[in-house]
Amino acid sequence: MQSCYAFDEYELSLRAVKTDTNVKTIQMTDLRTQYQKIRVEVDAAISEVLNEASFINGPSVSKFATELSDYMGIRYVIPCGNGTDALQIALMALDLPAGSEIITPGFSYAAVAEVCALLGLKAVFADVESDTFNIDAQKIEELINPATRVILPVHLFGQCANMPKIMEIANRHNLYVVEDNAQSVGAMCLMPGQMAMSGTMGHLSTMSFFPSKNLGCYGDGGAVCTNDEQLAARVKMIANHGQSVKYYHEIIGVNSRLDTIQAAILSVKLKYLNEFTEERRRVAAAYDAAFEGIEEIEIPFRASYSTHVFHQYTLKLRGIEPEQVQQSLKEKGIPSMVYYPLPLYKQKAYFVPIELPVTETLCKTVLSLPMGTDMSKEQIEFITFTTKAIVKQK
Ligand SMILES: *Cc1c(COP(=O)(O)O)cnc(C)c1O
Repeated sequence: MQSCYAFDEYELSLRAVKTDTNVKTIQMTDLRTQYQKIRVEVDAAISEVLNEASFINGPSVSKFATELSDYMGIRYVIPCGNGTDALQIALMALDLPAGSEIITPGFSYAAVAEVCALLGLKAVFADVESDTFNIDAQKIEELINPATRVILPVHLFGQCANMPKIMEIANRHNLYVVEDNAQSVGAMCLMPGQMAMSGTMGHLSTMSFFPSKNLGCYGDGGAVCTNDEQLAARVKMIANHGQSVKYYHEIIGVNSRLDTIQAAILSVKLKYLNEFTEERRRVAAAYDAAFEGIEEIEIPFRASYSTHVFHQYTLKLRGIEPEQVQQSLKEKGIPSMVYYPLPLYKQKAYFVPIELPVTETLCKTVLSLPMGTDMSKEQIEFITFTTKAIVKQK
Protein backbone atom coordinates (compact mmCIF):
# COMPACT_ATOMS: atom_id res chain seq x y z
CA MET A 1 0.00 0.00 0.00
CA GLN A 2 1.39 3.38 -1.02
CA SER A 3 1.37 5.83 1.83
CA CYS A 4 2.66 8.86 -0.05
CA TYR A 5 2.62 10.19 -3.59
CA ALA A 6 5.12 12.29 -5.47
CA PHE A 7 3.25 15.37 -6.60
CA ASP A 8 3.89 14.90 -10.35
CA GLU A 9 2.83 11.32 -10.18
CA TYR A 10 -0.33 12.39 -8.40
CA GLU A 11 -1.17 15.10 -10.94
CA LEU A 12 -0.59 12.70 -13.83
CA SER A 13 -2.83 10.09 -12.37
CA LEU A 14 -5.42 12.76 -11.67
CA ARG A 15 -5.42 13.80 -15.30
CA ALA A 16 -5.71 10.21 -16.49
CA VAL A 17 -8.63 9.53 -14.26
CA LYS A 18 -10.31 12.84 -15.13
CA THR A 19 -10.58 11.86 -18.79
CA ASP A 20 -13.03 9.18 -17.73
CA THR A 21 -16.43 10.83 -18.29
CA ASN A 22 -17.91 8.99 -15.33
CA VAL A 23 -15.58 10.73 -12.99
CA LYS A 24 -16.57 14.22 -14.02
CA THR A 25 -19.96 14.31 -12.37
CA ILE A 26 -19.53 12.87 -8.92
CA GLN A 27 -22.53 13.63 -6.73
CA MET A 28 -22.86 13.17 -2.98
CA THR A 29 -25.75 10.85 -3.93
CA ASP A 30 -26.31 10.26 -7.64
CA LEU A 31 -30.09 9.99 -8.04
CA ARG A 32 -30.15 10.63 -11.77
CA THR A 33 -28.23 7.49 -12.82
CA GLN A 34 -30.39 5.40 -10.52
CA TYR A 35 -33.56 6.87 -12.03
CA GLN A 36 -32.34 6.08 -15.53
CA LYS A 37 -32.06 2.40 -14.58
CA ILE A 38 -35.61 2.13 -13.21
CA ARG A 39 -37.11 4.80 -15.45
CA VAL A 40 -39.56 2.59 -17.37
CA GLU A 41 -41.14 1.25 -14.19
CA VAL A 42 -41.16 4.58 -12.39
CA ASP A 43 -42.66 6.45 -15.33
CA ALA A 44 -45.36 3.80 -15.72
CA ALA A 45 -46.19 4.03 -12.02
CA ILE A 46 -46.48 7.83 -12.21
CA SER A 47 -48.61 7.62 -15.37
CA GLU A 48 -50.99 5.24 -13.67
CA VAL A 49 -51.59 7.71 -10.84
CA LEU A 50 -52.07 10.54 -13.34
CA ASN A 51 -54.57 8.48 -15.31
CA GLU A 52 -56.48 7.55 -12.15
CA ALA A 53 -56.30 11.18 -11.01
CA SER A 54 -56.14 9.81 -7.45
CA PHE A 55 -53.62 12.34 -6.18
CA ILE A 56 -54.52 12.27 -2.49
CA ASN A 57 -54.74 8.93 -0.64
CA GLY A 58 -55.03 6.97 -3.87
CA PRO A 59 -54.75 3.18 -3.87
CA SER A 60 -50.96 3.36 -4.29
CA VAL A 61 -50.61 4.80 -0.77
CA SER A 62 -52.14 1.85 1.06
CA LYS A 63 -50.47 -0.55 -1.37
CA PHE A 64 -47.04 0.87 -0.53
CA ALA A 65 -47.82 0.87 3.21
CA THR A 66 -48.67 -2.84 3.04
CA GLU A 67 -45.54 -3.63 1.03
CA LEU A 68 -43.32 -1.75 3.46
CA SER A 69 -44.91 -3.43 6.48
CA ASP A 70 -44.27 -6.81 4.84
CA TYR A 71 -40.68 -5.85 4.07
CA MET A 72 -39.97 -4.65 7.61
CA GLY A 73 -42.02 -7.29 9.37
CA ILE A 74 -44.11 -4.79 11.30
CA ARG A 75 -47.90 -4.68 11.64
CA TYR A 76 -48.65 -1.04 10.92
CA VAL A 77 -47.05 1.46 8.56
CA ILE A 78 -48.82 4.82 8.46
CA PRO A 79 -47.47 7.03 5.66
CA CYS A 80 -47.20 10.79 6.20
CA GLY A 81 -45.71 13.91 4.64
CA ASN A 82 -42.03 13.64 5.66
CA GLY A 83 -39.69 12.28 8.31
CA THR A 84 -39.97 15.31 10.55
CA ASP A 85 -43.78 15.07 10.56
CA ALA A 86 -43.39 11.38 11.34
CA LEU A 87 -41.43 12.27 14.50
CA GLN A 88 -43.99 14.90 15.47
CA ILE A 89 -46.94 12.57 14.92
CA ALA A 90 -45.24 9.70 16.78
CA LEU A 91 -44.59 11.90 19.82
CA MET A 92 -48.12 13.37 19.68
CA ALA A 93 -49.52 9.83 19.63
CA LEU A 94 -47.87 9.12 23.00
CA ASP A 95 -49.97 11.92 24.56
CA LEU A 96 -47.19 13.01 26.91
CA PRO A 97 -47.62 15.64 29.64
CA ALA A 98 -46.05 19.04 28.83
CA GLY A 99 -42.38 19.18 29.79
CA SER A 100 -41.88 15.43 29.47
CA GLU A 101 -38.27 14.54 28.79
CA ILE A 102 -37.09 12.77 25.67
CA ILE A 103 -33.57 11.32 25.80
CA THR A 104 -31.95 11.57 22.38
CA PRO A 105 -28.40 11.87 20.96
CA GLY A 106 -26.64 15.26 20.86
CA PHE A 107 -24.93 14.23 17.63
CA SER A 108 -27.70 14.03 15.04
CA TYR A 109 -29.95 15.84 12.62
CA ALA A 110 -32.06 18.64 14.14
CA ALA A 111 -35.52 17.14 13.51
CA VAL A 112 -35.95 15.59 16.98
CA ALA A 113 -34.88 18.77 18.78
CA GLU A 114 -37.21 20.84 16.60
CA VAL A 115 -40.24 18.63 17.10
CA CYS A 116 -39.72 18.42 20.88
CA ALA A 117 -39.57 22.23 21.05
CA LEU A 118 -42.74 22.57 18.98
CA LEU A 119 -44.62 20.11 21.19
CA GLY A 120 -43.51 21.60 24.53
CA LEU A 121 -41.39 18.55 25.31
CA LYS A 122 -37.81 18.66 26.56
CA ALA A 123 -35.07 17.07 24.49
CA VAL A 124 -32.36 15.79 26.85
CA PHE A 125 -29.19 15.17 24.90
CA ALA A 126 -27.03 12.14 25.60
CA ASP A 127 -23.51 11.65 24.33
CA VAL A 128 -22.80 9.14 21.59
CA GLU A 129 -20.28 6.33 21.08
CA SER A 130 -17.10 7.39 19.39
CA ASP A 131 -17.02 4.31 17.16
CA THR A 132 -20.67 3.80 16.08
CA PHE A 133 -21.71 7.51 16.26
CA ASN A 134 -24.94 6.27 17.92
CA ILE A 135 -26.40 7.16 21.32
CA ASP A 136 -24.30 5.73 24.15
CA ALA A 137 -26.60 3.41 26.08
CA GLN A 138 -24.31 3.72 29.14
CA LYS A 139 -25.08 7.45 29.27
CA ILE A 140 -28.85 7.07 29.08
CA GLU A 141 -29.54 5.76 32.54
CA GLU A 142 -27.93 8.69 34.38
CA LEU A 143 -30.27 11.08 32.50
CA ILE A 144 -33.46 9.30 33.55
CA ASN A 145 -35.63 11.12 36.11
CA PRO A 146 -39.37 11.17 36.95
CA ALA A 147 -40.07 13.48 33.96
CA THR A 148 -38.45 11.10 31.46
CA ARG A 149 -40.97 9.41 29.19
CA VAL A 150 -39.15 8.45 25.99
CA ILE A 151 -35.80 7.24 24.73
CA LEU A 152 -35.42 8.35 21.12
CA PRO A 153 -32.37 6.75 19.50
CA VAL A 154 -31.42 7.73 15.95
CA HIS A 155 -30.02 4.90 13.84
CA LEU A 156 -27.35 7.11 12.34
CA PHE A 157 -25.64 6.69 8.95
CA GLY A 158 -27.08 3.21 8.34
CA GLN A 159 -26.43 1.31 11.54
CA CYS A 160 -28.75 0.51 14.45
CA ALA A 161 -28.14 2.03 17.86
CA ASN A 162 -27.55 -0.47 20.66
CA MET A 163 -31.19 -1.57 20.78
CA PRO A 164 -30.74 -4.66 22.97
CA LYS A 165 -29.38 -2.41 25.71
CA ILE A 166 -31.78 0.47 25.03
CA MET A 167 -34.87 -1.76 25.16
CA GLU A 168 -33.62 -3.35 28.37
CA ILE A 169 -33.19 0.09 30.00
CA ALA A 170 -36.56 1.29 28.68
CA ASN A 171 -38.37 -1.79 29.97
CA ARG A 172 -36.75 -1.48 33.38
CA HIS A 173 -37.77 2.20 33.68
CA ASN A 174 -41.12 1.84 31.92
CA LEU A 175 -40.24 4.27 29.13
CA TYR A 176 -41.35 4.46 25.53
CA VAL A 177 -38.81 3.93 22.77
CA VAL A 178 -39.24 5.79 19.47
CA GLU A 179 -36.68 4.85 16.80
CA ASP A 180 -35.70 7.54 14.30
CA ASN A 181 -35.15 5.21 11.37
CA ALA A 182 -34.76 7.87 8.66
CA GLN A 183 -31.26 6.68 7.75
CA SER A 184 -31.22 2.94 8.34
CA VAL A 185 -34.11 1.15 6.63
CA GLY A 186 -33.13 -2.47 6.07
CA ALA A 187 -30.46 -2.68 8.78
CA MET A 188 -30.76 -5.78 10.93
CA CYS A 189 -30.19 -5.76 14.69
CA LEU A 190 -29.32 -8.71 16.88
CA MET A 191 -31.91 -8.70 19.67
CA PRO A 192 -32.04 -11.36 22.40
CA GLY A 193 -32.75 -14.59 20.55
CA GLN A 194 -33.58 -13.07 17.17
CA MET A 195 -32.64 -10.66 14.40
CA ALA A 196 -34.97 -7.67 14.08
CA MET A 197 -35.15 -5.04 11.41
CA SER A 198 -34.41 -1.42 12.26
CA GLY A 199 -37.64 0.39 13.06
CA THR A 200 -39.42 -2.66 14.50
CA MET A 201 -37.94 -2.85 18.00
CA GLY A 202 -39.31 0.22 19.75
CA HIS A 203 -42.94 1.16 20.47
CA LEU A 204 -42.91 3.45 17.44
CA SER A 205 -40.48 4.24 14.67
CA THR A 206 -40.26 6.94 12.05
CA MET A 207 -38.98 7.01 8.48
CA SER A 208 -38.13 9.63 5.88
CA PHE A 209 -38.37 9.08 2.15
CA PHE A 210 -36.40 12.25 1.36
CA PRO A 211 -34.83 11.62 -2.09
CA SER A 212 -31.30 10.90 -0.85
CA LYS A 213 -32.38 8.47 1.89
CA ASN A 214 -31.81 4.75 1.24
CA LEU A 215 -35.49 4.38 0.38
CA GLY A 216 -36.14 7.79 -1.17
CA CYS A 217 -38.97 9.11 -3.32
CA TYR A 218 -38.88 12.06 -5.73
CA GLY A 219 -40.12 14.65 -3.30
CA ASP A 220 -41.07 14.53 0.39
CA GLY A 221 -42.41 11.50 2.20
CA GLY A 222 -42.34 9.76 5.56
CA ALA A 223 -44.00 7.10 7.71
CA VAL A 224 -44.65 6.06 11.28
CA CYS A 225 -44.40 2.34 12.06
CA THR A 226 -45.63 0.34 15.05
CA ASN A 227 -46.79 -3.10 16.15
CA ASP A 228 -49.24 -1.57 18.65
CA GLU A 229 -52.82 -1.44 17.39
CA GLN A 230 -53.89 1.43 19.65
CA LEU A 231 -50.87 3.56 18.85
CA ALA A 232 -51.41 2.86 15.15
CA ALA A 233 -54.99 4.09 15.39
CA ARG A 234 -53.88 7.29 17.13
CA VAL A 235 -51.08 7.90 14.63
CA LYS A 236 -53.51 7.46 11.76
CA MET A 237 -55.97 9.88 13.31
CA ILE A 238 -53.36 12.50 14.15
CA ALA A 239 -51.90 12.46 10.64
CA ASN A 240 -55.41 13.06 9.34
CA HIS A 241 -56.55 16.16 11.31
CA GLY A 242 -57.38 14.11 14.40
CA GLN A 243 -60.37 12.49 12.74
CA SER A 244 -61.29 8.91 11.94
CA VAL A 245 -64.75 9.90 10.69
CA LYS A 246 -64.65 12.78 8.23
CA TYR A 247 -65.51 16.16 9.82
CA TYR A 248 -65.57 14.72 13.39
CA HIS A 249 -62.30 15.74 15.05
CA GLU A 250 -61.61 13.78 18.23
CA ILE A 251 -58.08 14.92 19.00
CA ILE A 252 -55.75 17.66 17.78
CA GLY A 253 -54.03 16.52 14.64
CA VAL A 254 -52.06 17.73 11.68
CA ASN A 255 -52.39 17.41 7.93
CA SER A 256 -49.59 15.12 6.83
CA ARG A 257 -50.00 12.84 3.83
CA LEU A 258 -47.78 10.88 1.50
CA ASP A 259 -48.62 11.94 -2.07
CA THR A 260 -50.04 9.14 -4.21
CA ILE A 261 -47.39 9.77 -6.87
CA GLN A 262 -44.62 9.42 -4.28
CA ALA A 263 -46.17 6.21 -2.92
CA ALA A 264 -46.28 4.75 -6.45
CA ILE A 265 -42.58 5.62 -6.92
CA LEU A 266 -41.73 4.12 -3.53
CA SER A 267 -43.42 0.82 -4.45
CA VAL A 268 -41.06 0.54 -7.41
CA LYS A 269 -38.01 1.51 -5.37
CA LEU A 270 -38.83 -0.84 -2.47
CA LYS A 271 -38.48 -3.79 -4.87
CA TYR A 272 -34.88 -2.75 -5.43
CA LEU A 273 -34.02 -1.80 -1.86
CA ASN A 274 -32.04 -4.95 -1.02
CA GLU A 275 -30.11 -4.65 -4.28
CA PHE A 276 -29.44 -0.96 -3.60
CA THR A 277 -28.22 -1.82 -0.10
CA GLU A 278 -25.81 -4.39 -1.55
CA GLU A 279 -24.46 -1.74 -3.95
CA ARG A 280 -23.89 0.66 -1.07
CA ARG A 281 -22.04 -2.08 0.79
CA ARG A 282 -19.90 -2.72 -2.26
CA VAL A 283 -18.92 0.97 -2.41
CA ALA A 284 -18.15 0.91 1.33
CA ALA A 285 -15.97 -2.18 0.95
CA ALA A 286 -14.02 -0.55 -1.90
CA TYR A 287 -13.49 2.59 0.21
CA ASP A 288 -12.39 0.46 3.17
CA ALA A 289 -9.83 -1.42 1.11
CA ALA A 290 -8.40 1.77 -0.37
CA PHE A 291 -8.02 3.46 3.03
CA GLU A 292 -6.46 0.47 4.76
CA GLY A 293 -3.27 1.42 6.53
CA ILE A 294 -3.73 5.19 6.10
CA GLU A 295 -3.16 6.50 9.59
CA GLU A 296 -4.96 9.82 9.05
CA ILE A 297 -8.16 8.00 8.13
CA GLU A 298 -10.36 5.84 10.33
CA ILE A 299 -12.93 3.87 8.35
CA PRO A 300 -16.51 3.32 9.61
CA PHE A 301 -16.77 0.92 12.53
CA ARG A 302 -19.22 -1.98 12.30
CA ALA A 303 -21.14 -2.73 15.48
CA SER A 304 -21.33 -6.39 16.49
CA TYR A 305 -25.13 -6.20 16.94
CA SER A 306 -26.12 -4.43 13.71
CA THR A 307 -25.66 -4.75 9.98
CA HIS A 308 -24.77 -1.55 8.10
CA VAL A 309 -26.77 -0.17 5.18
CA PHE A 310 -24.41 2.77 4.56
CA HIS A 311 -26.73 5.71 4.30
CA GLN A 312 -23.45 7.55 4.71
CA TYR A 313 -19.84 6.43 4.53
CA THR A 314 -18.36 8.51 7.31
CA LEU A 315 -14.66 8.76 8.04
CA LYS A 316 -12.99 9.99 11.18
CA LEU A 317 -9.93 12.08 10.33
CA ARG A 318 -6.80 12.27 12.46
CA GLY A 319 -4.57 15.32 12.47
CA ILE A 320 -6.41 17.17 9.72
CA GLU A 321 -9.60 19.27 9.78
CA PRO A 322 -12.62 17.88 7.91
CA GLU A 323 -13.36 21.31 6.38
CA GLN A 324 -9.82 21.47 5.00
CA VAL A 325 -10.18 18.06 3.34
CA GLN A 326 -13.65 19.01 2.14
CA GLN A 327 -12.32 22.17 0.49
CA SER A 328 -9.44 20.33 -1.22
CA LEU A 329 -11.80 17.60 -2.45
CA LYS A 330 -14.15 20.26 -3.78
CA GLU A 331 -11.30 21.76 -5.83
CA LYS A 332 -10.97 18.36 -7.53
CA GLY A 333 -14.72 18.18 -8.16
CA ILE A 334 -15.50 15.75 -5.34
CA PRO A 335 -18.35 16.61 -2.99
CA SER A 336 -18.20 15.62 0.68
CA MET A 337 -20.20 16.60 3.75
CA VAL A 338 -19.67 17.13 7.44
CA TYR A 339 -22.63 15.42 9.12
CA TYR A 340 -22.89 17.17 11.60
CA PRO A 341 -20.69 20.21 12.24
CA LEU A 342 -22.44 21.54 15.37
CA PRO A 343 -23.89 19.58 18.34
CA LEU A 344 -27.66 20.01 18.73
CA TYR A 345 -27.26 21.56 22.17
CA LYS A 346 -25.02 24.26 20.67
CA GLN A 347 -27.53 25.25 18.00
CA LYS A 348 -28.92 28.72 18.65
CA ALA A 349 -32.51 27.44 18.50
CA TYR A 350 -31.98 24.52 20.89
CA PHE A 351 -29.17 25.74 23.10
CA VAL A 352 -28.52 23.89 26.35
CA PRO A 353 -25.42 24.67 28.43
CA ILE A 354 -23.92 21.18 28.41
CA GLU A 355 -20.83 19.63 26.89
CA LEU A 356 -20.77 16.10 25.55
CA PRO A 357 -17.13 15.25 24.89
CA VAL A 358 -17.57 12.56 22.22
CA THR A 359 -20.14 14.64 20.32
CA GLU A 360 -17.82 17.66 20.41
CA THR A 361 -14.90 15.64 19.06
CA LEU A 362 -16.95 13.98 16.31
CA CYS A 363 -18.25 17.33 15.05
CA LYS A 364 -14.62 18.27 14.46
CA THR A 365 -13.41 14.96 12.95
CA VAL A 366 -16.10 13.39 10.73
CA LEU A 367 -16.32 13.59 6.96
CA SER A 368 -18.82 11.74 4.76
CA LEU A 369 -17.79 10.77 1.23
CA PRO A 370 -20.07 10.31 -1.80
CA MET A 371 -22.27 7.22 -1.42
CA GLY A 372 -24.95 5.73 -3.59
CA THR A 373 -26.11 2.91 -5.78
CA ASP A 374 -24.42 3.79 -9.05
CA MET A 375 -20.83 4.70 -8.36
CA SER A 376 -18.29 3.47 -10.89
CA LYS A 377 -15.00 1.83 -10.03
CA GLU A 378 -13.25 4.85 -11.60
CA GLN A 379 -15.18 7.29 -9.45
CA ILE A 380 -14.37 5.36 -6.28
CA GLU A 381 -10.69 5.18 -7.25
CA PHE A 382 -10.59 8.87 -8.03
CA ILE A 383 -12.21 9.72 -4.69
CA THR A 384 -9.98 7.46 -2.60
CA PHE A 385 -6.82 8.40 -4.46
CA THR A 386 -7.53 12.11 -4.10
CA THR A 387 -8.54 11.80 -0.44
CA LYS A 388 -5.36 9.93 0.42
CA ALA A 389 -3.23 12.46 -1.44
CA ILE A 390 -4.92 15.33 0.45
CA VAL A 391 -4.46 13.86 3.91
CA LYS A 392 -0.84 13.04 3.11
CA GLN A 393 -0.04 16.49 1.68
CA LYS A 394 -1.52 18.41 4.62
C1 LIG B 1 -33.75 13.05 7.05
C2 LIG B 1 -33.89 12.89 8.51
C3 LIG B 1 -35.04 13.33 9.21
C4 LIG B 1 -36.08 14.19 8.59
O1 LIG B 1 -36.67 13.73 7.45
P1 LIG B 1 -37.41 14.75 6.47
O2 LIG B 1 -38.16 13.82 5.57
O3 LIG B 1 -36.37 15.55 5.76
O4 LIG B 1 -38.33 15.60 7.27
C5 LIG B 1 -35.12 13.07 10.56
N1 LIG B 1 -34.16 12.41 11.21
C6 LIG B 1 -33.05 11.99 10.59
C7 LIG B 1 -32.01 11.27 11.36
C8 LIG B 1 -32.87 12.22 9.22
O5 LIG B 1 -31.75 11.81 8.63
